Amino acid sequence: MEECIFCKIIKGEIPCSKIYEDEKAMAFLDIAPINKGHALVIPKEHHETFEELPDELSKYLIEIVKKISIAVKKATNADGYNIGMNVGKAAGQLVFHAHWHIMPRFNDDGLKTWPQKEYEEGEMDKFKEQIVKFL
Ligand code: 5GP
Ligand code: ZN
Repeated sequence: MEECIFCKIIKGEIPCSKIYEDEKAMAFLDIAPINKGHALVIPKEHHETFEELPDELSKYLIEIVKKISIAVKKATNADGYNIGMNVGKAAGQLVFHAHWHIMPRFNDDGLKTWPQKEYEEGEMDKFKEQIVKFL
C-alpha cells in the first residue's frame, strides 16, 4: 500500500491531470490512453480490486463513473465509450487500487472489442449451472 501509485496520486505526491475530486472519489486522465481523454475513476480509500470495494462505495462510485463518462464523451466528441475494470492480473490489472476506465471511442478509431469464442454443444448450459451455484 505504501507503494500504491494511485494512493500517491491521491496524496498529491505524484502529479496527475485531475478532472474530478470529492471526499470519496477522484478522476484523472490515464497517462497512456487508448484514445485521448481516457479517464480513470478511483476511490480515495485503498481497496485492491472490485471485489474488495464495500458495496456502498461501489454504488457511489458508479454514479461518478456515469458523470465522468458523460463529460468525457461531450469533451472529446466521442461516438461512444467503453467502461472497463480489470480485475486481477490475468485480466490485465496492473495497478492494484480498484479503478474504472472510461475510454472514449470513435467510429473510425480502428480499435476492436475483445475477440469472441464459441461454445460446444451443451457447454453453455454447463457454464450457466456452475455460475448459478455460486450465487
Ligand atoms: P489497469 O491495467 O491496472 O487496469 O490500469 C492501470 C492504468 O493506470 C493504465 O491504463 C496506466 O496507463 C495507468 N497509469 C499507471 N500509472 C499511472 C500514473 O502514474 N498516472 C496516470 N495518470 N495513469 C497511470
Ligand atoms: Zn492505493
